[in-house]
Amino acid sequence: MTLLNENYLNLQGSYLFAEVARRTAAFKKAHPDAQVISLGIGDVSRPLVPAVVDAMKKACDEMGRAETFRGYGPYEGYDFLRSAIAAHDYQARNVDISADEIFVSDGAKSDVANFQELFSADARVALQDPVYPVYLDTNVMAGRSGVCKNGQFEKIIYLPCTAENNFAPQLPKEHADLIYLCSPNNPTGKAMTRAQLQLWVDWAIENKAVILFDSAYEAFIRAEDLPHSIFEILGAKKCAVEFRSFSKTAGFTGTRCAYCVVPRELMIYDKTGNAHAVHDLWLRRQSTKFNGVPYIVQRGAEAVFSSQGQAQTREVIDGYLENARVILQAAQAAGLTAYGGENAPYIWLKTPAGITSWEFFDMMLDRLQLVGTPGAGFGLSGEGYFRMTAFNTPELTQIAARRLAGLK
Ligand SMILES: *Cc1c(COP(=O)(O)O)cnc(C)c1O
Repeated sequence: MTLLNENYLNLQGSYLFAEVARRTAAFKKAHPDAQVISLGIGDVSRPLVPAVVDAMKKACDEMGRAETFRGYGPYEGYDFLRSAIAAHDYQARNVDISADEIFVSDGAKSDVANFQELFSADARVALQDPVYPVYLDTNVMAGRSGVCKNGQFEKIIYLPCTAENNFAPQLPKEHADLIYLCSPNNPTGKAMTRAQLQLWVDWAIENKAVILFDSAYEAFIRAEDLPHSIFEILGAKKCAVEFRSFSKTAGFTGTRCAYCVVPRELMIYDKTGNAHAVHDLWLRRQSTKFNGVPYIVQRGAEAVFSSQGQAQTREVIDGYLENARVILQAAQAAGLTAYGGENAPYIWLKTPAGITSWEFFDMMLDRLQLVGTPGAGFGLSGEGYFRMTAFNTPELTQIAARRLAGLK
């Protein structure tokens, strides 16, 4: 008899998107002529920009010639890409991060999921509520959660983010070892300010905690005063790791390229109190379990930083932000309270008083033929909210917005 990892039995079913799909399919079956529009899409819809495609074609030709063919690449990514990332995403913004602190990977999802392996099985985990479900589920698999009671795990420290605290996570009252922060946030669409992040960095240093900072939506930040990186915050290199991705910023969801930044000075400790560099541990982990991102893909990612690539990807993101603006305006015209949508591709609606997020989902589908995502699916504090995304085409977003504005 082969025993399983019993932690997997603690996982809560991936009920959210399955249930959304089930209810949508049932509606379409009952109303075959209805034009249902999804504002629930968590994937991009615009293609890769020409600068990226050209670079990948060129790299593809190189791979087909003996003189320029490449086999296994470096575990941490090619120097050309790590240098481009350090120069454009950090040094150009006066953030002191060097190329050798950057680890190129096949996704922020895998990085953020894998990183917890470096920490003790007893580490206490704090996370925002509501939030991207990967942080929680991977810690459940690793046995750090305890059991789930009434929708929350007994050992997880939940940091509620609701309209009452302007969606900013408050410092925990108890000790935490690992803190997951996602900014701009999926699903609330809120980005943390410098002052808010500084409180967390100071707290983490004082408590010898590590912040795992997910900034997959960094490129959607347009407000001048909002930080794009946690390393813009004083002291962060002593306590934080940052995860970024080309997925939402350059349409790489199907192409796969991301990176994480692990400062050399970030330390964690063994039982006797000796310090160990997280950088070295992560390199050891990656070189054991990961064989790198395809050369062709890394050349594509490098092209995002060319002047053409920058202009072209910015235009794509501007398009999504315009969709977000259109949805936000329509929600307000309908008399709904809406958040986010300004420095993020997510609009976070407050459901009208007394209506749960699933009831609101049904109402939107029945009355407007619009699909979104019930907030309760992202955590208990997401109850009473509803997520809409800016990733559909401008045409369908306009039609959806007209319907939404007419909701009364
Ligand atoms: C989409 C998303 C990711 C996943 O990025 P990949 O690089 O495609 O794996 C990571 N974090 C958040 C918050 C996301 O919404």
